[in-house]
Amino acid sequence: MSAVPPLVVVGAGVAGLCTALAAAPRPVWLVCRSACPVGTASAMAQGGLAAAVGEGDDPTQHAADTLAAGAWHNDVAAVHALVAAAPGVVQWLAGLGVPFDRDGEGRLQLGREGGHGRARIVHAGGDATGRAITTTLAQAAAAAPHVGWLPGWRLEAIGLARGRVAGVRLRDAQERSREIATPDLVLATGGIGALFAATTNPPGADGSGLSLALAAGADLRDLEFIQWHPTALDVPGAGKLPLVTEALRGAGARLVDGNGDLLMPGGHLPGDLAPRDVVARRICRHQQEGGRAWLDARGLDAEAWRQFPTVLALCARHGFDPRSEPIPVTPAMHFHMGGIAVDPDGASTVPGLHAVGEVACTGVHGANRLASNSLLEGVVCGRRLGERLRQATAGTAPAEHWVDAGPGADAAARAAIARLAGRALGPVRDGATLAHALQAIDSDRALSAARQGRLLLAMLAAALARRGSLGAHHRVDKGKNRNIRHGIDTPAYGETA
Ligand SMILES: Cc1cc2nc3c(=O)[nH]c(=O)nc-3n(C[C@H](O)[C@H](O)[C@H](O)COP(=O)(O)OP(=O)(O)OC[C@H]3O[C@@H](n4cnc5c(N)ncnc54)[C@H](O)[C@@H]3O)c2cc1C
Repeated sequence: MSAVPPLVVVGAGVAGLCTALAAAPRPVWLVCRSACPVGTASAMAQGGLAAAVGEGDDPTQHAADTLAAGAWHNDVAAVHALVAAAPGVVQWLAGLGVPFDRDGEGRLQLGREGGHGRARIVHAGGDATGRAITTTLAQAAAAAPHVGWLPGWRLEAIGLARGRVAGVRLRDAQERSREIATPDLVLATGGIGALFAATTNPPGADGSGLSLALAAGADLRDLEFIQWHPTALDVPGAGKLPLVTEALRGAGARLVDGNGDLLMPGGHLPGDLAPRDVVARRICRHQQEGGRAWLDARGLDAEAWRQFPTVLALCARHGFDPRSEPIPVTPAMHFHMGGIAVDPDGASTVPGLHAVGEVACTGVHGANRLASNSLLEGVVCGRRLGERLRQATAGTAPAEHWVDAGPGADAAARAAIARLAGRALGPVRDGATLAHALQAIDSDRALSAARQGRLLLAMLAAALARRGSLGAHHRVDKGKNRNIRHGIDTPAYGETA
């Protein structure tokens, strides 16, 4: 590597890859725990990437849907910048070689997901979009002379000098360590699903980047806003629940109870395609009353099923055929709207520490992310951040001290933390359960000393502090909710209980 101080990017999902690519010609070390795209949420994305590219659609409508889904808690300027960039992102990715699905005349095929007023989701390989995008981006990064890959290494500590980033310490599976001096570190470490007992996320989505930022003194934001996907496959397992894409509902599948009655009757409301927090709460309430939820996709024809090879293979692995029987589904922790507070350029409050993708909070998702806006965010914000970091923001200086996030929890402590997180920070919350979880962690040294426990404490404190309901943060102990979102007749979904 040259004398120009290198940029260190940690995480090789869509956000880290786009940042690394855009930083050329500055030398970049791209650090990730496993060989890309293994272990990334990006590679698991099924539905696709939202962009107003269809006939009669435009970024203004995409923005309106993003704001409605986010309960108007969004940063409005960030939303407009994101949706305006989306059509160009599709063109850029297609130019790199992403094989988006097209009709016989070469037009992009568009899927529909919850919260979108129209079909707006571009996809590849049907429901294998994430894999197609990350594979293409990883190939581009592998061919880029400015990118040095460090697969198999994890970020362990951040070196600081006079309050700004001075370096990183990495560790590999053999417990060897290495340090890299850098004035600029980008955290692209993904989400926090692995802290929860039921999640669609990969095991590596354990909040390690967020914990490090917390330890380094960076401001975090909106930690209480956690999205539960309404339709994970309800099968016995160790908490990792496979996703059944919302695009199936976009193609006509309906949520039903054990008697086959609709759980989300439509009418003038968006019904099954309401924003995710609304649908997840409906299912959660039904389960609390002793019921189970099913996704009935038997009405889809053979042509429609061609778009869902991942779901078909997944169901086959679990021994049933969704073409002839309803799919058992349950909500599972899916996406974190909160994260490291960053400005529109990805800078955190610690000089030299930047964040992008799911670990960051730009405010674009508000209190509930609109479906398929996160791959888009990873590309748009990653490219913007990489371009900004083509120049180093400071010279190198030796680290004066090192910050780590504390010891990892052992298996028993991880299981206890996951149970507490699931109970307290689910689709339906109340103050007593939040306070009990906080106290249970605080009073148990094995939990409170662990980095996972510390992070959960910060999330619980944020949820306790927000006394009213907003988007995905739904408190049932504060009486009638007036602020879920305008335009949706909330009582029809039992929102006011
Ligand atoms: C099943 C599923 C389906 C989804 N479907 C869609 C969809 O259709 N459309 C959409 O827009 N969004 C979807 N999402 C959400 C979206 O995939 C993620 O929000 C997004 O891909 C996150 O990208 P990222 O680059 O921030 O993180 P990730 O893709 O998760 O990448 C994180 C990277 O950080 C690395 N890492 C983490 N900690 C460390 C550490 N300490 N040291 C070194 N490396 C580390 C990991 O190894 C990984 O390489 C889905 C998510 C899931 C789980």
